[in-house]
Order: sequence, then C-alpha cells, then structure tokens
Amino acid sequence: MRRMLGLRTSYGTAILLAVAATLGLVTHQRAWAQAGLGEVLETQAIGNEMEGAARSKRENNQNPQQASPQAPNAAVAARPQDAANRFLTEVNQISLSVANILKLVLIFVILWMWVSAVDWVNRDAQIHQLGYFKWNAIVFFPFMALALLLVFLPLATIIRAPILLVVFLATWIPYVVVHNKNVQPHQTVLTGSWWRYVFASLASKVGLKVSAERKAEYEKGAAVELFAMGAEDLTTNNANLLSARNSPGYLLVKDLIADMAQRRSERLLLDFTQQAVNVRHEIDGVWHNGDARDRESSDVMLAVMKTLANLEVKERRKKQEGKFGAKFEGHTYLCPISSQGVATGERVVMNLRGEQQRFGSYADLGMREGLHQQWAELMAGELGMLVFSSLPGGGVTTLIIVSLEETDRLMRDFVAIEEVNHREAEIQNIAAHTYDAAAGETPVALMPKLIRLYPNVYICRDLVDAESAKLLFKEVNDERLIVTSVPAKEAVEALLRILQMKVPAKEFAAVVKAVLYERLIRKLCPDCKVAYTPPPDVLQKLGIPAGKVEKLYRPPKPEEIEKPCRTCQGLGYKGRTGVFELLVVNDQMREILVKQPNVDLLKKAARAAHQRLLQEEGILMVAKGVTSIPELMRVLKQ
Ligand SMILES: [Zn+2]
Repeated sequence: MRRMLGLRTSYGTAILLAVAATLGLVTHQRAWAQAGLGEVLETQAIGNEMEGAARSKRENNQNPQQASPQAPNAAVAARPQDAANRFLTEVNQISLSVANILKLVLIFVILWMWVSAVDWVNRDAQIHQLGYFKWNAIVFFPFMALALLLVFLPLATIIRAPILLVVFLATWIPYVVVHNKNVQPHQTVLTGSWWRYVFASLASKVGLKVSAERKAEYEKGAAVELFAMGAEDLTTNNANLLSARNSPGYLLVKDLIADMAQRRSERLLLDFTQQAVNVRHEIDGVWHNGDARDRESSDVMLAVMKTLANLEVKERRKKQEGKFGAKFEGHTYLCPISSQGVATGERVVMNLRGEQQRFGSYADLGMREGLHQQWAELMAGELGMLVFSSLPGGGVTTLIIVSLEETDRLMRDFVAIEEVNHREAEIQNIAAHTYDAAAGETPVALMPKLIRLYPNVYICRDLVDAESAKLLFKEVNDERLIVTSVPAKEAVEALLRILQMKVPAKEFAAVVKAVLYERLIRKLCPDCKVAYTPPPDVLQKLGIPAGKVEKLYRPPKPEEIEKPCRTCQGLGYKGRTGVFELLVVNDQMREILVKQPNVDLLKKAARAAHQRLLQEEGILMVAKGVTSIPELMRVLKQ
C-alpha cells in the first residue's frame, strides 16, 4: 500500500511539475507577448519609414528633373538615424528577453521547490506516520490556490515571487518542525548537520572531499548488514529488525560478526556467568578461547541476536532456537543460534555459516592421485557394494557428491533412494526416489518400483534396516553397484557398523568391495609454518625410511613469533583437508566378517595386504608438509 502510494506520488510529481511549468509560462507569456508586440510595432514603423525614404530616393532617380531639390538631403539625413534606431531596438530586445528569462527561472525555481516539498511531505508523512492526509492538504492547497489567483492578478513578477515563496515556507516549515521532532537525529532536515551533509554531497560531485557523515546509529561500526529471519512472516521480521536497530547492542552484534568472519570462526560459544561472559570460537573444527566479555554489554548484544532470531529476550532458562542472517564483505551468512540455561547461567551457541565451498574434484578434497585413481576404478565397477564413511559431520556428504560427479553418469543409470525429509543435493543425471519415514516407510517400499527401472547403480546413503539392505544385496547379484554410507571412526569400523544393523553377514561379506573413509585435518598455514629437521627416532616411529624426508613442518612457537601472522590470525593453521583411507575388502577380510568380526583382525588383514590405514595416510601428509605431527595426533585421537 505504502509503495503504491509512493509510486502514485511519483506520477503526481511529474504531472504537477508539468502543470507548474505551464502555469509559469502562461503567467509570463502575456508579459512577453506584450513586450514583443510593442517591439514588432516599433520595428514595423522603422521599416515603413525606411521604405518611404527608399521609395522617394528611387523616384528621385527616375525623374531627376522633377526631383525636389531637398529630397537627396532628406534621404541622406534619414540614414544615420535609422542605424541608431536599429541599435536601440536590438539592445531593448536583448535586455527584455534576459529579464524575462530570469523572472521565469525565479518562478520556476519556487514552483520546483514546492512540488518537491509536496512530494517529500506526502512520502515522509506516511513513512513516519505523521498524518499524511492533513499535511498533504496544508502544503498543497494554500500554495496552489494562491498560484492560480496570481495568474489572474496584474502583478509584476518581482512581487509574485516573494508572495509564493512566503506561502510555500509558511506551509512547509511547520511540517519540517514536526518531522524533526519525530525522527532519528540522522533523519532530520534543515539542521546544521543536514546542511553540512548537503554541502558535502554537492562538493563531492565536483570532486571535493568533505567529510560530513549522516548515518543512523545502527549504520555505524563494522560494515555488517544484519537480517531478522526468525519469524515466519515478513512484517514481524521487519518489526524485529527495526527494534534491534534501536538497541546499542546492534553495533556489538555487527562487530561480533565481523570479528568471527575475520577469524574464520564457524561457531561461537558464549557462557554467561554471574561475573563475565566466556567466549570460545570453533575454527577449522577446533575450539579456541577468546577474550572474556563483560556482562552488561554482552546482555545487550544477546538481546539483539535473540530479537533478530525472534526469540524471547527475557527467557534465559528454557532452550530456544532460531536464526538470523548477516552480510559482510560480499559474503552472506546464516546464523543459527540457540540459548539455554545451564548451572552457571546461560549458554549461547551461534553459528556463522557462509556459502558452501564447492569441491569439484578429488584433488580439491585433498585426495592423493594414486588413491583417487584406485577409487575412481571402484566407482566405475559394475557390481558390488561401496561404503563411504567419516565421523558425523566429517565430510562424507561432500565426498559422496564429488565421487558421484566424477564418475560416468551418462552411460550408466543411477537411482538415489532418499528419505523425503532428508533430501540430498541434486546431482545431474541421478534420479532421486523418496520414501516417507514418518509414514512408517523404508527403502523397501521403493524397491519393487526401482527394480523395474533396471538401474546400474543404487545410491542408498542410509541403509536404515536389515530388510532394505537385504533387498539391495540381492540386486548386486543382478550386476548392480550399491553405494551407501555409515558414520564410523575408521574404515574397518564402518564394516562392523553395517553388520550391527543385523544384516546377514554372509551376504554382506560377499557383496562389499571397499570402504572409503575420510577424516578432516587442519592444514599448516603456508605463511608461517616452520621447517625443522626431525630426529631419526621420530622418523623411525613414524615409519618414514631414513633419508627419505629431510624436513618436517610445524606452527611457529610463541617465542618465534615477531608479529602475529595475518593469514592464519596467529593460529598456525588455515583451512582443512581430508585424510583418506581406502580399504579394499579381500577374501581374508570377508572370512573375518563372517566368522569373527573384529576391528583388530580386520586391520591386521589390511596391513597384511599392504593397504595404508588412516594413520599411514596421515603420516604421508606430515611428510609432505601439509600438516604437523601434533595435528595428526589430535585428529587420530578423535
Ligand atoms: Zn600463519
């Protein structure tokens, strides 16, 4: 509604401006016309005079005898007079036009100011709810009536202009006063700061730089834009945003988001205790202590985050969850937030989720060449079962997407089995079929239909139950490839996890071909990592043959840091990559799975087959200088 009114006024402005211009011309054309008529008559008189003289001259020439003796003298006398007259006329014409144009411009400027003011009052009174109906009438009608009246009054422009100006100001200034009383300081007009701002904007147009910032309180601070997203409807979200902006905590939230983005903090933990607020940041999957904050400012900051997320600000015991949005340096972030009362006070967790990083290839994920070729061959296989695994949230989703995108989907038909409420990212040329767990359905419900489609590959990320697994195992006998996933701590454990779902061990052991396991590990910061010569016993422990690796790398020690590294914010690590373990199931492992399923036995079998386990793959990355020994230890302990 408001927007529509705004639009209508814009048209109104155009029409009004046209009317004003016409009025201006009408009032002045008469004066112009009058002046013009006088000049025309004058010119004509001169013309006649000149013609008369010329004619008498011609007559004299034709009849020299009859010519009066005074005639030549008269003609000669008329000529200088002519020139003088013409000159005077021209001067008069020019001065008349300039004066008229100036008068016209004056009237036009006043009319333009009035039209702009009418338009502004109309919109502004609606925005700030100052009674636009009343103010429109006050600013519009008296001036309009007077302008029309003046058209018919025989008054000089020099008198008309001040009258119009006085009436304009007398109706507009009262609105300005009311407006200034009802708005934020940065929104006032005709005040000192407003004039400075207008001057600065004009100066900047001609290349001068004058600093005269006119910003709302909420616009100050870090260049972060916040969005209220917690409520279902736009109106509530807008109201929440406006109320958040009025709080001094708004700037604190902006600073917080900027700080998190600069630190690459993915998650923030705020522990509100009696005395202070303890701060922790999760960066690349590791928690780091931040500087503690004071209670007062943190309370105001939390109130703003809760308002943006449409949560109860005063509720500090019950668990609440919501989200808001932020934009900083061209990146948009989703900020899910949860708060809950704990023994020491209130605990708040706020996430900063940026756009998902796109991984296009195995190399992007950090998989070494030899390993990814081996895996790509398995993915291209015609039958069997392939298992993806990681810790929960350990990168398996991305790993599956890259594996599917890298494999041939044009010569083979893929079907994906997904739970209707847990849909996966769409992949080109893979048709997804859904079952509804809430309605008691499992993948079993889809199988009869899917079997009739004769797909080459089934993707069932979640096996759910033994029955679904059994049906899929059966399909392998018809030369189908099955792709599945399961959370686990290492590759061999992934096999045992599937067995724990009470699937028939014999059938499972017969179809399973390989497990690809991933663990995320932090990469050393390329700008501050320090090279060192590892002692021989360390190399021996790591299983690195002597003479193979001359240098290993580690983050700088505190005493080695002259000034904190900007690349990694002094953490020594930046970003994460994957450590991959590929377990190819052989007959010995199949026997173990059926007879004595056990982690140690499976690992032993893998080593006997010269397969690199997670630890060995990690040591390779240490040797390459991608990561450090302490980081690998940390990751392997997870
Ligand atoms: Zn660094």
